[in-house]
Amino acid sequence: MKIPILMYHKVGAPVQSRPDTFLNVSARSFGRQMRLLQRMGYQGITFAEAAAGLRGDLKMPRRPVCVTFDDGYVNVREHAAPVLDRMGWPATIFLPTGYAGRANEWDRQYGNPILPIMDWETLRGLQEAGWEIAGHTRSHPKLGEMADEEAEREMRAGAQDIAERLGSAPQTFCYPFGSHNDRTPGLARQCGFRAACTTRSGLADPSADPFRLPRVKIAYRDDVWGLLYRLWIRPRLS
Ligand SMILES: [Zn+2]
Repeated sequence: MKIPILMYHKVGAPVQSRPDTFLNVSARSFGRQMRLLQRMGYQGITFAEAAAGLRGDLKMPRRPVCVTFDDGYVNVREHAAPVLDRMGWPATIFLPTGYAGRANEWDRQYGNPILPIMDWETLRGLQEAGWEIAGHTRSHPKLGEMADEEAEREMRAGAQDIAERLGSAPQTFCYPFGSHNDRTPGLARQCGFRAACTTRSGLADPSADPFRLPRVKIAYRDDVWGLLYRLWIRPRLS
């Protein structure tokens, strides 16, 4: 069993220059990609469900696919949630809790576009609709470059914020920037998470380390052919 864990960030964010295409897909491409997957027999599940399926704790649909959104941009609520709603698919948001209701201010130093992030009320609505709101620390640091105690504090703080605001502790986690070192996955486990994903590319299977699960990164130019290439051709080349 191989589970594609799709990695998206922004959906339908305005594109005026090249940096606006980074970690962004158009609303049209996103809709076409989801409808293609559905026609191919895929069924959307959350990342926590995918992780439980990989452990053998949960029966998986015949063709599971996991849609994840890093950072919780408002444009995901605007452009991606309606598409997924119509299909009856949930998704997973990795939320840097300190920025809920604010914007991706950590990106300012990299010259990336600054866009609003969902507030807690919106996130609660998605959670009630079956979405998973998962850990991504509180302040979106590079965990792999921090002292262990500091990294652990960041992961716990994010989990606590989610537990307080949404009623239950998150089960899964995603390393901001994909940054982790040899010890970070163990720290995530200690913080109570059951699985974590990286930005490394590939399909997840039961032999993978549950705290280093790979994802399939979808780029602005991909549309449906790029998605097919990334799901079906590229994994067979490596
Ligand atoms: Zn992030």
